[in-house]
Amino acid sequence: VHLSSADVIGLEHQFGAHKVVVTETSLMPSQHESHYHPLPVVFESAKGAKVWDPEGREYIDMLSAYSTLILIVFRFQGHCHPKIVATLIEQAQKLTLSSRAFYNSMFGKFAQKITTMFGYDMVLPMNTGAEAVETAIKLSRKWAYEKKGVPDGKAIVFSVAGNFHGRTIGVISMSTDPESRGGFGPYLEAVGPTYVDNGDVKTIRFGEIADLERALELHGKHTAAFLVEPIQGEAGIVLPPKGYLAKVRELCSKHNVLLICDEIQTALSFYSFVGLCRTGKMMCYEHDNVRPDIVLLGKALSGGVLADRDIMLCIRPGEHGSTYGGNPLGCAVAMTALDVLVDEDLAHRAEVLGEKFRAAVRAINSPLLTTVRGRGLLNAIVIDETRSAKGRSAWQLCLLMKSRGILAKPTHVNIIRFAPPLVISEEELMKAVKIIETCLADL
Ligand code: PLP
Repeated sequence: VHLSSADVIGLEHQFGAHKVVVTETSLMPSQHESHYHPLPVVFESAKGAKVWDPEGREYIDMLSAYSTLILIVFRFQGHCHPKIVATLIEQAQKLTLSSRAFYNSMFGKFAQKITTMFGYDMVLPMNTGAEAVETAIKLSRKWAYEKKGVPDGKAIVFSVAGNFHGRTIGVISMSTDPESRGGFGPYLEAVGPTYVDNGDVKTIRFGEIADLERALELHGKHTAAFLVEPIQGEAGIVLPPKGYLAKVRELCSKHNVLLICDEIQTALSFYSFVGLCRTGKMMCYEHDNVRPDIVLLGKALSGGVLADRDIMLCIRPGEHGSTYGGNPLGCAVAMTALDVLVDEDLAHRAEVLGEKFRAAVRAINSPLLTTVRGRGLLNAIVIDETRSAKGRSAWQLCLLMKSRGILAKPTHVNIIRFAPPLVISEEELMKAVKIIETCLADL
């Protein structure tokens, strides 16, 4: 039975949790909620940067973010990349899962490839980004007790305001977003962006090096790690001031604190490669010439942690793990995906196309367009909704763009993220910019 878009959306609304049907014409109940609602478009098939719905309508995918493994695996090298599809089929017919109770023929090869590529001794494979973050919290605490000499139960993991590291309890304990945190307590202790200064509770802001300096000056002795996204993704593609990460590195080294970079959105996404090369470099921290102590990879099915032996081996066999982590299917796909990224020089491509995209969007003459920012093919525009002659919102801009063949979605009310597949052609990208321009004019 071939279902229409309306049928599919209806089924999901009735039987799937946390979805709200949004029709072409409906206004969102509140603009704030739009962040959590899907755009009313159904993906039925896809190739490269293009997506088709059940009615055969064609779209350029400018989001490439929330999806299932299969879509995500193929998305960032372009949907359904033939080499990756071939590997998936071949490996699926051979071996898909062993668990790490046994060895499988793919994990070792994959581990060697990825650690060599990024210059770390070891990799610990997990399933999701949030799991990678949880792993890093555990790992850095263990390291702090065993190597740094922090008294038992006293280790702190600092993060920054506005972070997004996932949805698990440990992770939301670090969040400053009431939507992510509220109503789920009690929270994990000694994690997050706050610290006590002379009896006052202070917050470490993203991009404000003095905040971290003060927090470490006061609490550095007990601090295991500082966790940060090189660019804050969910917060709306927020870039720190130039040189921020380098200064963070210096401070962490000075206080013997592990620097954990969450590259889940900005750089490599393990088996799925949501972000690898996305910012124009393989890893976003490369822009600042720093080397984190722990690197977090993730998205969709997978997640993982890169670190050197002296840190990684603080966790011993039996102390941490995951049934699906390092599964041969994921490893095989990941290796081919890495090859595609290198062979097709996608990092360079993202850098060049990203610059062209930002220049073209900046050239749009619209009073609604207040900011254009990003790196490589991870970009965002900020919309001043108060300047819409028809009183329309960023959400409605996305609906309008959808009706003209461009898929994108707001993050945090009035910020729209554009993160197309890295194989998008210049022609498709410029077509997208033209549509953004006409939609802004008609908003
Ligand atoms: N960290 C960052 C920076 C993310 O953007 C995300 C997801 O968007 C996560 C962690 C969580 O990843 P997952 O949804 O795979 O748990």
